[in-house]
Amino acid sequence: MSTDGLEIRVAGVAVQIVRKDIKNLHLGVYPPNGRVRVAAPLSVRDDAVRLAVVGKLGWIKKQQAKFAAQPRQSKREMVSGESHYFLGRRYRLRVVEHQGPARLVLQDRDFFELYVRPDTDAKGRERVLQNWYREQLRRLIPPLVAKWQAILGVEAAAWGIKKMKTKWGACSTGTRRIWLNLELAKKPVQCLEYIVVHELVHLIERHHNDRFIALMDRHLPRWRQYRHELDAAPLAHSDWVY
Ligand SMILES: [Zn+2]
Repeated sequence: MSTDGLEIRVAGVAVQIVRKDIKNLHLGVYPPNGRVRVAAPLSVRDDAVRLAVVGKLGWIKKQQAKFAAQPRQSKREMVSGESHYFLGRRYRLRVVEHQGPARLVLQDRDFFELYVRPDTDAKGRERVLQNWYREQLRRLIPPLVAKWQAILGVEAAAWGIKKMKTKWGACSTGTRRIWLNLELAKKPVQCLEYIVVHELVHLIERHHNDRFIALMDRHLPRWRQYRHELDAAPLAHSDWVY
């Protein structure tokens, strides 16, 4: 993910332009605020990029309106009663103050019981939850990677989990390393599997071209549904910063 790049305004819409060694221009509108980003081939001139954006203005505005209409999770305070998600299921947070080490326990498939010292603030509580999500992903990902490496006949050099603001996953074809967004812990497991497949398919085909889509269609015919679920409300995160 690149955060640098030029920002232009087209008819009042801020558009971030990132130059890349790619063949086709990619235009995307991203949650939660409908940020517009264009990945443009090195050879395409700025005015051509602007023209492409103008041609897509109607579509961009429609996407932005969709994001604006989505219910947004409120800012987490990490107090009892809040809703939190794990594998697409909603849990109520129950904060239990104690003197031992911090931990999180899943209770009755309904509650996240968060054991913390009385002086642990919201940030500290959040950290316990994030670490717990990370642990769960570390347990869930290896069988998925093994399964799909065998099916696709590829092998990633390594995989990792990180917090990403605009992507569910990433694949570095040079180092053959794949990255999965920590936020995926909140989504249904099929969505996690879809991102694993998507990133591994990049080891066969780098670009989102017809060949890539044909591979996805062949191996995971319902991938569009999972992608839709990933983008659907409620948004996973309340404080994405751009
Ligand atoms: Zn991709």
